[in-house]
Amino acid sequence: MRIYPRRSTIAFDRNKEEMDRELLNFLRSWYTSLLVLFAATPEHYLPSSAQDSALAEVVEPSTPPTSECEPRSPSTDKRSTVEVPILVYHHIRQSDPIGSRAERRLTVTVEIFDHQMNYLQENGYQVITFATLANCLTKTSKLPAKPVIISFDDGWEDQFLYALPRLEKYHYSATFFVVTNSVGSPGFLSWSQLRRLLVEGMEIGSHSRSHARLDKINSPGILWDQIHTSKQILESQLGAAVEEFAYPYGSYNATTAAAVRSAGYKTARACCVGGVQSDAYALRAVMAPNDLGKFGRYLGARAPSRRN
Ligand SMILES: [Zn+2]
Repeated sequence: MRIYPRRSTIAFDRNKEEMDRELLNFLRSWYTSLLVLFAATPEHYLPSSAQDSALAEVVEPSTPPTSECEPRSPSTDKRSTVEVPILVYHHIRQSDPIGSRAERRLTVTVEIFDHQMNYLQENGYQVITFATLANCLTKTSKLPAKPVIISFDDGWEDQFLYALPRLEKYHYSATFFVVTNSVGSPGFLSWSQLRRLLVEGMEIGSHSRSHARLDKINSPGILWDQIHTSKQILESQLGAAVEEFAYPYGSYNATTAAAVRSAGYKTARACCVGGVQSDAYALRAVMAPNDLGKFGRYLGARAPSRRN
């Protein structure tokens, strides 16, 4: 029996007028964000130059962990801060990776992945969804003890073949971020596999249309296509709402984040800078290492027992 909620299906009868209004709203926010950028760029929106493949190091936390949504500075900033590790996986393969250093760093073997899922279960971690974290950040709900989020990037077929059975074994849900132009290509997930993931209680998110570095795109139309059209394609093919986005390469800026928000996403995940969460459109994650010891050290540093 599944213990996580099914995603509700939605109707796709939005008329052109509504679509035009969304685009207009986005263009307004685009120009506003340009003005903001000229004035000042908030530190957490600074574009990242790091590549996915260069981000496999385990990032140690610099602040004490907490599982509560607590105001960090009530007088100046009403947003909450919460410690939730977000794990990012790419390839799950049967044997130790060979090939380039980048490929090795993007691969976790089935055996170690199974050990990692078992570690979460044995140590009382509770797998939550991005929606649950977003609700916590907006103060509409609390988090369980020891929350963790599991995510997969790029839509590789090995995630379906090797990760899904282990996720089912432990009754864990995960979010699969898909590049829509790649769906159905050799080595990538097909539409039927993506539908099967939904049936099995998984979440599907967008990872853009072509895995472009979004913070380098200067055309509002192209940026909107990467972000909004990918959402439309996924929703029409899957018959389910798609409300999570992951920035390719973890790269984004204020304009990118504004576009993701305007397109109707509830969250956006960056990459590989730790697990202190305060902004639903700049969620921090860590690349899962192909090493159980490092995995445990990363999560152990965030154990809720340190709160007390
Ligand atoms: Zn990616």
